[in-house]
Amino acid sequence: MTVRLRAHHLLCMLTFVGEGYTPAFTANYIRIAERLSSGEEIEIVSGPDDICAPLLSGRSAHCHNASVCTRDAAAAEAVSCLLGMPAGDGTRIVPDGKLLARLRRNFAAGTIRRACTDCEWSELCDTVAGHGFKGVLVAAR
Ligand code: SF4
Repeated sequence: MTVRLRAHHLLCMLTFVGEGYTPAFTANYIRIAERLSSGEEIEIVSGPDDICAPLLSGRSAHCHNASVCTRDAAAAEAVSCLLGMPAGDGTRIVPDGKLLARLRRNFAAGTIRRACTDCEWSELCDTVAGHGFKGVLVAAR
């Protein structure tokens, strides 16, 4: 099995502490966090992914919006640049401790966060990063 993630969720997974849009969204995200923490491979996809899934039937689903796709493009570019490899549709990566630490180091430094511009969760993510990612649910075992 692989966890299907759109590119900007490569950043969001770094600061996930159990908060989200709806109880169903959060419960699903927690299950995905467990899978990622156990090292399950990520496949980068374009458009809605496994994290988005519980939102897609709702009227307020924003997962197809152009602004979200723009966020994906910015995240893909930043992660590609950081890792020196493509981080686009179909790319597979393993979220091991080394990768998570590298992403978090750069997230905290602000060098891979252009995708976060105007995100409603920015304040929470800033706080989580500022506290050394304490309490995050995606953490290599
Ligand atoms: S600020 Fe928004 S886009 Fe950036 S990591 Fe947090 S939730 Fe994801």
